[in-house]
Amino acid sequence: ASGYALLRDPHHNKGLAFAEKERDAHYLRGLLPPVVVNQDLQIKKLMHMIRQYEVPLQKYMAMMDLQERNERLFYKLLIDNVEELLPIVYTPTVGEACQKYGSIYRHPQGLFISLKEKGKILEVLRNWPEKNIQVIVVTDGERILGLGDLGCQGMGIPVGKLSLYTALGGIRPSACLPITIDVGTNNEKLLEDEFYIGLRQRRATGQEYAELMHEFMSAVKQNYGEKVLIQFEDFANHNAFDLLAKYGTTHLVFNDDIQGTASTVLAGLMSALKLVGGTLADHRFLFLGAGEAGTGIAELIALEMSKQTESPVEETRQRIWLVDSKGLIVRSRMESLQHFKRPWAHEHEPVRNLVDAVKAIKPTVLIGSSGAGRTFTKEVIEAMASFNEKPLILALSNPTSQSECTAEEAYKWSEGRAIFASGSPFDPVEYQGNVYLSGQANNAYMFPGFGLGLIMSGAIRVHDDMLLVASEALAEQVSQGNLDKGLIFPPFTNIRKISAQIAARVAAKAYELGLATRLPQPENLVAHAESCMYGPSYRSYR
Ligand code: NAP
Ligand code: MN
Repeated sequence: ASGYALLRDPHHNKGLAFAEKERDAHYLRGLLPPVVVNQDLQIKKLMHMIRQYEVPLQKYMAMMDLQERNERLFYKLLIDNVEELLPIVYTPTVGEACQKYGSIYRHPQGLFISLKEKGKILEVLRNWPEKNIQVIVVTDGERILGLGDLGCQGMGIPVGKLSLYTALGGIRPSACLPITIDVGTNNEKLLEDEFYIGLRQRRATGQEYAELMHEFMSAVKQNYGEKVLIQFEDFANHNAFDLLAKYGTTHLVFNDDIQGTASTVLAGLMSALKLVGGTLADHRFLFLGAGEAGTGIAELIALEMSKQTESPVEETRQRIWLVDSKGLIVRSRMESLQHFKRPWAHEHEPVRNLVDAVKAIKPTVLIGSSGAGRTFTKEVIEAMASFNEKPLILALSNPTSQSECTAEEAYKWSEGRAIFASGSPFDPVEYQGNVYLSGQANNAYMFPGFGLGLIMSGAIRVHDDMLLVASEALAEQVSQGNLDKGLIFPPFTNIRKISAQIAARVAAKAYELGLATRLPQPENLVAHAESCMYGPSYRSYR
């Protein structure tokens, strides 16, 4: 055993926190300065350093370096300072990191599976040092946040999502595997970028794409078994819906953009109803953006409404309208619509733009899921505020540059009456002497606890009813105190407790549906979830 190697092993390194006895036992004498510090002092020092960086990307790079140097310290830092550091390891900064991933690249993270690895994917999986994998987050980089095709540089997303699986959901870091499938990119800027790290070719499509994905999905199941959770992340919608449908019957798959977002937003709506009154079925919904997030949310709202009112989902869908880049989705457009939009093509005359759609539909809830920034204009928000006492406005698109409006705009243009939440965080807003806090409507509330629930029950399939109970669990975590401040999501500070609640409900549903394989069912699922969670405090090595 070499002390030198120990200091360079991120899974075991403790830096200056190695105790005297550990320094003797593990050949560390002389390799460290004399001082021995505790983990809390290390955290204090790191936060001090990170706060000195003014550029968010520098903070991001410092965090990634720490993860590569001392894993436990990285997770403790993130858990103890989650509100402050989430915008660094996650949206919005992770978006910028992906855009510049090639230029800031220092060491590989996760597994890269490109067309070059075709026919060898099982071998590639076996090159990964960990054998017991519980969660894979995989992207093909084609729709990274609202930033479009970032090809191989999308790797920042699975890496970031999995660090939240550990920090927010308590999944062991060694059980997490980030993967990027590189089939090329259609991003001209990246193809010409000398620092680009991916295949320098246009995207493979059709059969070539399907075959690589199929080899990947088969290899994962062969190598890790049936209970490994595969989370699809930031695929373009022309593949995402099909992959979910195709592998949903043979694998434990979860699409975060479609399902995780839906469950999160439904939770936000459930708690918002306590502020605006009525049931879901009393409201009218309008979406800007009819892709994965938009139609995923719409479908889950319709499902919940149909359970509540005991009416068919074909009926409850009528209360929900969507606008895409060509205008309001209406019956006369049916022929040319992608299949996931068709259930939303209601009878109505054509409407070309959002403002006119808002005026025609008069929604009580407006949801932005377009990836197009600044599309909730003054006119749109004023229209919402003209026929709603408390217009409910969600600007889900990430990162901040793509948000449909800012928090300040939502409050100002609605004269302080909007109930607002956004996908990326905004600072509190001061308007006419009042301070307005807005919540973060982001699937980060959901996927870590949801995944924990699947894993701890040994679930073999994801079911829509799990999404509904997860929404209820999250909505229940919003306190009266939160609501009084206008927050329809709880703060992230208590996220591990929240995740345990979500996990317990998801697991209970898995047992109820006969989809759980870990038997017998633990009596207290919340306590069980908490006891399963990874903690980042140092272990002592004797
Ligand atoms: P997507 O499947 O590509 O869908 C985007 C939709 O927006 C499409 O229907 C597109 O219209 C429409 N659209 C784009 N630009 C528009 C414009 N200027 N006016 C009107 N409609 C426009 O993408 P997605 O997966 O749904 O993601 C969309 C956004 O949501 C991204 O920014 C993503 O970051 C964000 N998101 C947030 C969360 C969260 O937790 N907060 C979760 C998932 C996604 P066409 O169909 O006509 O092209
Ligand atoms: Mn996503």
